[in-house]
Amino acid sequence: MKEYAHAARAEGLVIGLVPTMGALHEGHTALVKRARKECSRVIASVFVNPKQFGPKEDYKKYPRDLEKDAKTLGDAGVDVLFAPETSDVYPDGFRTYVNVEGISERLEGRSRPGHFRGVSTVVLKLFEIVQPHFAYFGRKDAQQVRIIGEMARDLNLDPEIVVCPVVREADGLALSSRNAYLSAEERKAATVLHRALVTARSELSHGVRDALQLQTVMQRIIAAEPLAVLDYAEIVSADTFEPVVRVARPCYAVLAVFVGKTRLIDNLSIEPASSGSDDFLFHL
Ligand code: AMP
Repeated sequence: MKEYAHAARAEGLVIGLVPTMGALHEGHTALVKRARKECSRVIASVFVNPKQFGPKEDYKKYPRDLEKDAKTLGDAGVDVLFAPETSDVYPDGFRTYVNVEGISERLEGRSRPGHFRGVSTVVLKLFEIVQPHFAYFGRKDAQQVRIIGEMARDLNLDPEIVVCPVVREADGLALSSRNAYLSAEERKAATVLHRALVTARSELSHGVRDALQLQTVMQRIIAAEPLAVLDYAEIVSADTFEPVVRVARPCYAVLAVFVGKTRLIDNLSIEPASSGSDDFLFHL
C-alpha cells in the first residue's frame, strides 16, 4: 500500500482516503463520492480496529462482509481497497499510541475509555501508510472528527481533513453499521434519537438557550421510549466539546442511547439564531 501511494504521489496524483470499519452503507459511500469528486485516486480502508473497542464491547460480533464491501466500494468508484490483517497493523510488541488529551476523555471517551486513543492511533497509521492529500470523515461521529482534526494540527500532519454531513434514513435514523443489530421493534424505537435532537433544536429556535433546559427536553423524550436507555444527552461547544451553559455560539446536541443492547450515537449542530446577539432574544 505504501509503495503504491508513493508511486501515485510521484506521478502527481491527488490521493483521497476514506477510512471505514466495513459493513458499508450509504453514509460510507457518500464519503467515497465526495472523495471521487476531489481526488484522482480514491483509497478506502476496511479495518475493524481492535484498539478502539473496550473489552466488553462488540469487537468480535461487529458485522464483517469484505466481499460485499469490496463490491460496494467498486461500484462507488473506489480505486483501491486497503483491508489489512490485524497482525499487519499491530504486530507483536506494538506499544506506541497517540492520544489527543482532554477532548478524548469526554462524552464518547468517558463512556468508552481508551476508544479515542485507539481511533487516533489507527488513523495516524493509516495516514502514514496511505499518505493521502485528503481524508474523509463523517459528522455522524462529530467528536471523533474533531479529535482527528486536533491531532492533524498538533502533529503537523499533511492530510486535509474533510468533514461530510450525516446521512440518514427517511425517518431520521442516522445510518450506522450497528443498526444491523436492531430488531424490527428496536429499529422503530431508534428514531427517538433524532426526534430528541430535532426537538432540542426547535426549542432553541423558539428562544430556549439554556443548555440544561435543552438537555432535559432530550432526556424526557428518550425516557418516554420504553426500549431506550440514555447514556448521555448534552449540549457542547462545537469547538471544544466542553459543556456550555447557554447556546451562544455553534454547539452540538449530542446523544448516546442504548436501544435494547445496541448503543447508538447521534448529534445535531445547533446555533443561536443568526442575529447572534442576545439583544435580539426578545424577538425570538
Ligand atoms: P465506521 O465504519 O463506522 O468507522 O465509519 C467510517 C466513516 O464513515 C466515519 O468517518 C464515520 O463518521 C462515517 N459515517 C458512518 N456513518 C455515517 C453516516 N450515517 N453519515 C455520514 N458519515 C457516516
